[in-house]
Amino acid sequence: MVSVTGHVALDPARALLRRDLAALDDLVGADPQRAEALAGELAERASALGDADALVLARLGLAEAVQRTGDSAAAARLITDLRAQHDHLGPEAAVRVPWLLARVFTDLGDRPTALEHALDAAAACSDDLPRRLRTRVFVKVADLLDELGAYEDSRTWYERAEELAVGDGQLHLLVVNNRAYSELERRDAVAARREMALLHELSARYDRPLNANTLDTVARVHLLCGEPELAEAAARAAIEANSAMDAKNGDDAPVCLLTLAVVLRVRGEVAAASRVLDEARAACAREGFGTVRSQILAEQAEVFAALGDYRAAFETHKAFHAADRELLSEQREAQARARQAVFEIDVARQEAARYREEARRDPLTGLRNRLFVDERLPELLTASRSQGRVAGVVLLDLDHFKAVNDTYSHEAGDEVLRRLARILTDAVDGCPGPESFAARLGGEEFLLVVTDARSGCAADLGERVRRTVEETDWSAVTPGRAITVSAGVATLAPGGDKASLLALADARLYAAKAAGRNRVDAG
Ligand code: GH3
Ligand code: MG
Ligand code: MG
Repeated sequence: MVSVTGHVALDPARALLRRDLAALDDLVGADPQRAEALAGELAERASALGDADALVLARLGLAEAVQRTGDSAAAARLITDLRAQHDHLGPEAAVRVPWLLARVFTDLGDRPTALEHALDAAAACSDDLPRRLRTRVFVKVADLLDELGAYEDSRTWYERAEELAVGDGQLHLLVVNNRAYSELERRDAVAARREMALLHELSARYDRPLNANTLDTVARVHLLCGEPELAEAAARAAIEANSAMDAKNGDDAPVCLLTLAVVLRVRGEVAAASRVLDEARAACAREGFGTVRSQILAEQAEVFAALGDYRAAFETHKAFHAADRELLSEQREAQARARQAVFEIDVARQEAARYREEARRDPLTGLRNRLFVDERLPELLTASRSQGRVAGVVLLDLDHFKAVNDTYSHEAGDEVLRRLARILTDAVDGCPGPESFAARLGGEEFLLVVTDARSGCAADLGERVRRTVEETDWSAVTPGRAITVSAGVATLAPGGDKASLLALADARLYAAKAAGRNRVDAG
């Protein structure tokens, strides 16, 4: 389920957990029930180890297992809960979440929404993620494009998926199977036969028998090509392959039985077809699987018609339409609920992001505040240093500001602070270096951060601000009184950090004040 992510050596317990997550990923397609149990166990282990990334992946494995057992609503809830609880997703989870949502919305019959999520997943796929995951994401995009009628585009995605799959038999067969199925749906016998031949060739090349799904496709291709005998052999092989698996994956069993029933009817063995349909219905006794259930009814009506029992055929046909309508309305309701859940999470995340942003701004001036400086400055210093830049700061303080408040009013003082903030923002905007910014540290003390402060740039900035403030016409705010600032400038010394940088700027600001104010001390 997860590639060993880091170059960081993992301790043995974590390494074992990652290995078991990979095993979970193998298991979930073959045996979702057992995968469900394993995922729960791995989640507990991840929690105990405090391994947040592994926990998210285990919980996503659980959601996938639940989705594969046919409970789309529960899977959607698991995914949305997970997104609500984890602010940040690792690179693999960032692909798995939209990919699973694409699967869920496909189950719910909402292909356009499924495609949106699948494309999100594809966009998040970087080359260092597991090849199996990337291939399955690309196949999902291809399947959905095909089902939505974008045939040409879907071929491109199948090709991308196939390129990735070469060398991995299971994956390669999956890609070709899905492409064959798409040709079947288009009733293109020539193309479907070509894909079928490729399936047999790959099975031999990789020395890997065709699974139930693929054999079912083969049966359908033979049926399309007017080869009912070969179709029956493949359909029976599909059922056998399916029952040989110790667990049932989604609606595979009823789907294979349905294919056999169709083949038998076409071959004129109508009574046998009817019996197989009964089996198919019994095989989808559990919740979900509405689509195959209503397909079984449609086939049942065909069988009655073939038997000459037109009354029963008519009644069954009516039942099929009723079931189909019910399925549609159930799907619509579930779609609405799932979309609502995803939407709510998006809104909640946006709100959380907004609160986060607001908490890092000063309400009076709109500048960044001390919390932002405390969080961001160390990161910016590290980034500057690693990119060969020299970061610098200008620490500013209004001169005799107490007197402004006392002489005019607190409101006038506030207006001075707001106007100064605009001067600082404009000055910093003209600075080189990404992410240079102005902040209000508190009271009438401000900080300018320049992420590229080579060749006296920070000192120039301090001097420019000092002069602008001095030359500004303040008469509308503080008639008869000029406003001035003092500043201390420092650039990051080799081996220095945020604390030493700010301490040096502070000492120079103090020196500027002591030397008579309205001046900049850059050392
Ligand atoms: P110096 O030149 O030595 O810096 O003198 P000063 O008067 O500027 O320094 P001092 O630290 O003595 O006073 C700072 C004043 O800033 C005191 C306080 O009333 C005022 N002040 C702090 N925050 C605000 C604010 O948000 N709005 C207003 N209007 N005044 C504030
Ligand atoms: Mg002051
Ligand atoms: Mg002060």
